[in-house]
Amino acid sequence: MERKITVSDIRQAAQEAYNEAKEVKGGSNANYIPYLANIDPTLFGLSVTLTDGTTFNFGDTDYKFGIESVSKVPTAILAMKQHTPEGVLKRIGADATGLPFNSIFAILLENDHPSTPLVNAGAIAACSMIAPQGASDDKWIAIVDNIRDLCGSAPELIDELYESETATNFNNRAISWLLKNYGRIYDDVDMSLDLYTRQCSLGITSSQLAVMGATIANKGLNPVTVKQVFDPEISAKITTMIASVGFYQHSGDWLYTSGIPAKTGVGGGVMGVMPGLFGIAAFSPPLDDAGNSVKAQTAIKLFMRKLDLGIFNGDNVDIVS
Ligand code: GLN
Repeated sequence: MERKITVSDIRQAAQEAYNEAKEVKGGSNANYIPYLANIDPTLFGLSVTLTDGTTFNFGDTDYKFGIESVSKVPTAILAMKQHTPEGVLKRIGADATGLPFNSIFAILLENDHPSTPLVNAGAIAACSMIAPQGASDDKWIAIVDNIRDLCGSAPELIDELYESETATNFNNRAISWLLKNYGRIYDDVDMSLDLYTRQCSLGITSSQLAVMGATIANKGLNPVTVKQVFDPEISAKITTMIASVGFYQHSGDWLYTSGIPAKTGVGGGVMGVMPGLFGIAAFSPPLDDAGNSVKAQTAIKLFMRKLDLGIFNGDNVDIVS
């Protein structure tokens, strides 16, 4: 069905979704990373960026929170830019694990590949693939520059979060060395893990993440800076990964109930991608049992429902002024 939605409908849906989700209670901050446990749980922001660059922000959309696992998306894009989508498929994979983000069991079950760059094992493997090989500083610059290009402005390392994660990332150390055992890490092990830990500790705002989502939705053309950040063919590949594993073991439930591919992080951020239409991001620290922000999920679902949108609705939607 051909449908037209106005920019003001979108603005109103975002405002209402923000107001309603703000009242939602429940969840608790991530407690296994000390820095995250102490973030103000009442913070809440919702941002939408359309593929023409129009942006709506409600609430704490300038607050820099830990990007955490949402960082797996830009680094997967960078790995695809450098090694092609086929190269990433071959060395990492594109399969959902159906298990928690930090699962060691998933590695043992699929010992031929770490499944997807959007879980910890695959994300550490993706960091190991980033060029130039063996050069930590240059790899880090490539990772950060890519995020800056996708968001249109630079992320900033939260030193305290980085220290906090480095001091407590024992499970991820086990994952990294297990990957090494299976020959699935493509650079120095400790360096690859450190890059992953550092990228998770970048501070980002919901407004920046909405632009990143819009850049992916817009086939790699950042609608705010008008820079082509990646080849258009990568857009469908990364959106497929986000749809299949963005919420880990709850990805099916999420897509079924929200209608939008989205990626979560334990810092409380969620970034959604509606191909051709918009990027959306919400942030609120309290998480559910699977490590996904309670309010951010609610806000994005409400927004989608109010506009009667869904990636599989079969509608040809046009946003008009
Ligand atoms: N840095 C966190 C970890 O590796 C990120 C997890 C997440 O956001 N799901 O445990």
